[in-house]
Amino acid sequence: MNYPQPGDYIDLHTHGARPVKGVFKVETIMAHEERIPEKTTDLAFTYGIHPWYLDESNHNRLLASVIKTAADPLIIAVGEAGFDKIKGPSMDLQRKTFEEQVIIAEELNKPVVIHCVRAWDELLRVHKRLHPKLPWLVHGFRGNKDLAMQLISKGMYISFWFEFILKPESSELVRSLPKEKIFIETDGAEVDIRDIYNKVSSDLGLGLDGFKKLILNNFKGFFIKR
Ligand SMILES: [Zn+2]
Repeated sequence: MNYPQPGDYIDLHTHGARPVKGVFKVETIMAHEERIPEKTTDLAFTYGIHPWYLDESNHNRLLASVIKTAADPLIIAVGEAGFDKIKGPSMDLQRKTFEEQVIIAEELNKPVVIHCVRAWDELLRVHKRLHPKLPWLVHGFRGNKDLAMQLISKGMYISFWFEFILKPESSELVRSLPKEKIFIETDGAEVDIRDIYNKVSSDLGLGLDGFKKLILNNFKGFFIKR
């Protein structure tokens, strides 16, 4: 697998990443895109079925491509996968497809990157039932401290939604969470991960280098240490 170097900025969740010197990106490939991971040094990949692009007619085909492609050593996690109550197919199909992907991830010994919109009970129920040994990461997080702590208490990590984490109002939340469980990301938006590093490192009073070390350690904790 590709691996971030000390001193790199790490963008935990991107779509359509272009190389930027000194920035290591975790690029999301959604199964319906029919892309395969490329060999480059500054990208790692996740692969999964995003609930927005799932329906009864493509389920079997998308699942087959997850089984095939997620085993590739360039793929470091399954996802993004999960639940969306605003957009996507029935909750039954979302749940079935999410559980299938969790089981694939467990068999491959890879963690799971989660998309979850207004379906926290569903997510927690699946976690309780399947009791995964690999960690999960909720990307695009913009909830409150109680929700964050509930997820973290299940061993999950949190990557903050870029727009939320750049606001001054998020500073208190950031300071109140266990810092070994957090990540930051651009989600492929026109925002510079280095600006987010500056904001959050000053929230935490760590300095830029200290914050880079923290995120690199979190990266190892989530993707590598077992
Ligand atoms: Zn995404």
